[in-house]
Amino acid sequence: MTTFHIVTIFPETFSSYLNEGVLGRAINKKKIVKIKFYNPRDYTKDKHKRARPDGRPFGRVDSIPYGGGPGMVMLVSPILKAWQKAKGQKKDVKTIILSPGGKEFTNRYAKKLSEEFNHIILIAGRYEGIDARVKKITKAEEISIGNYVLTGGELPAMVMIDTISRQIEGVLGDYNSLEENRISSGEVYTKPREIRYKGKSYKVPEVLTSGHHAKIDKWKTRKKL
Ligand code: SAH
Repeated sequence: MTTFHIVTIFPETFSSYLNEGVLGRAINKKKIVKIKFYNPRDYTKDKHKRARPDGRPFGRVDSIPYGGGPGMVMLVSPILKAWQKAKGQKKDVKTIILSPGGKEFTNRYAKKLSEEFNHIILIAGRYEGIDARVKKITKAEEISIGNYVLTGGELPAMVMIDTISRQIEGVLGDYNSLEENRISSGEVYTKPREIRYKGKSYKVPEVLTSGHHAKIDKWKTRKKL
């Protein structure tokens, strides 16, 4: 059982993606992956003082940056308290802060995390990012899912959960579904053998219907993940 502890001010953004398909089954039916949320807003001092028009508590989680510049910075205290709640007394925990400037996330790293940790804390930022002291205090590793900037760490956290979960035994059902355990090709085909579109014919490569396994494997060979 692997538990993902997600520190986010937008926990609702996760539900539709994580409750469908292979991940949904792993979480809700097989119960081999667990997701827990910790909202920094719940750890703010003014949480109960002011209410938004929709009735949800208003907790201040950001402030203006020292040194100037655009955008707000996420405060240390609410995130730290949320992180402490997630960590508890657990030892086998990895803390990750999603950040566009972090180490690039790869399939290999996902596999390593799935093997080494039962608890993974993912801290999703918003605005200009998170006060850098959170990283220092929590001894977190900063991870980027790619060389582009998103508005928040929630999608990156979901990308990580998806990729890591595929590596956990039982999630995919078949060991051979993992690309690195077999020969797999980026190009796949299914019925019918020929499709006509605007007068042109699109056929399945002959080798795939030849029954010649060595040749098929050779055709499928692509770069190792
Ligand atoms: N101005 C900041 C970016 C803030 S983006 C900078 O220059 O670094 C807001 C939040 O989105 C970040 O705190 C991070 O949690 C998340 N985020 C954006 N792009 C990301 C990426 N490529 N990988 C991981 N997290 C990302």
